[in-house]
Amino acid sequence: MINKLSKRINNLPVSATLAMAAKARELKENGIDIIGLSLGEPDFNTPDFIKEAAIKAIENNYNSYTPVDGYVDLKKSICKKFKRDNDLDYQPDQIVVSTGAKQSIANTVQVLVNPGDDVLLVAPYWVSYSAIVTLAEGNPIEIRSDISNDFKISPLQLENAITKNTKLVIINSPNNPSGSVYTEQEYKALAKVLDKYPEIFILSDEIYEHINYGVPHFSFAKIPSMFNRTITVNGLAKAFAMTGWRIGYIGAPNWIAKACTKMQGQITSGTNCIAQRACISALEAPVSKIKYMVDEFKLRRKLIINLLKDIKGFKLNEPKGAFYVFPDISSFFGTTIKGKKINNASDFAIYLLEQAHVATVTGDAFGSPNNIRISYAASNENIVNAVNRIKKAVTIG
Ligand code: GLU
Repeated sequence: MINKLSKRINNLPVSATLAMAAKARELKENGIDIIGLSLGEPDFNTPDFIKEAAIKAIENNYNSYTPVDGYVDLKKSICKKFKRDNDLDYQPDQIVVSTGAKQSIANTVQVLVNPGDDVLLVAPYWVSYSAIVTLAEGNPIEIRSDISNDFKISPLQLENAITKNTKLVIINSPNNPSGSVYTEQEYKALAKVLDKYPEIFILSDEIYEHINYGVPHFSFAKIPSMFNRTITVNGLAKAFAMTGWRIGYIGAPNWIAKACTKMQGQITSGTNCIAQRACISALEAPVSKIKYMVDEFKLRRKLIINLLKDIKGFKLNEPKGAFYVFPDISSFFGTTIKGKKINNASDFAIYLLEQAHVATVTGDAFGSPNNIRISYAASNENIVNAVNRIKKAVTIG
């Protein structure tokens, strides 16, 4: 059959995280006992006080179209959150609420990037950044980091990647997939480089802000010279166990927020009314209310690191945030395990799925071809069983 689809969609890669999760689901439905560690999704229920707010919203007949950029009282709660957690002074007209942080990022890229513009991505980066940039006909340009520098880039690397075509830099701390957290000093050193290039914008993805195990979170927009050039992205999915509720938001210069609203008004309109009402309760609550989940993730981090460290060929750093480990498994490249040739990280992830029945994600999708991503947003039992299976599958003899 002739392919009648647009070049745009034909050239778009499938989201590797979602594809692996779908594959794991399909195998499970066919009776195969898969342990899914591919998706970054808390295995907790949304806290009761948030669910109650949603039920109340339904009872109070919140059922109409919502303002494209979000309810005013939700935007005010977001401004308060930015002040309380990040010491950032955003006004409601600088906030746009969207259907997940993914849409917040897509809006921002669509309104800033022209065809041919370069967008710098710090590899490893979240899978969808490059696809979103490509959709906007921009060029995703990788700045590589690896386990030897704790998956962080230096100011010199940033400087060397900048050209006259650079329009936007996407940064992400705590990072998905590496878990690295930039310190205030490290971000200030990067900002010093960007001070020399006032025409470049910065998208700071802070969705894992609260999933942090000790290095204080620092918002890039807190640097005075960066505030008017930074789009701060955040959302409720990870810290509040609300992945399916689909609420993300930006704090941005007013003219960018207005453009994002215009974009969203033609594509999805205002996001879901019930979820928005529930998010007000979530954001107004003290952060201590969700600490039990972060404490649990911290224990699981320790558990999975200790178990994985025992597997020959796995090289690990200690992630300081998010809920992923990102081992370097390149020592397996070029080897044959149980009759299966492993040439790259994708081969390795597929081998783990087929042989160990554990779903992970190849590092290729994150611009980091020596690694695989394993999510530990899973029960202790699943973590222990999964690592045992991986160990058995990769141990020769
Ligand atoms: N952000 C999560 C992840 O990286 C959810 C899946 C996705 O949207 O990519 O696993």
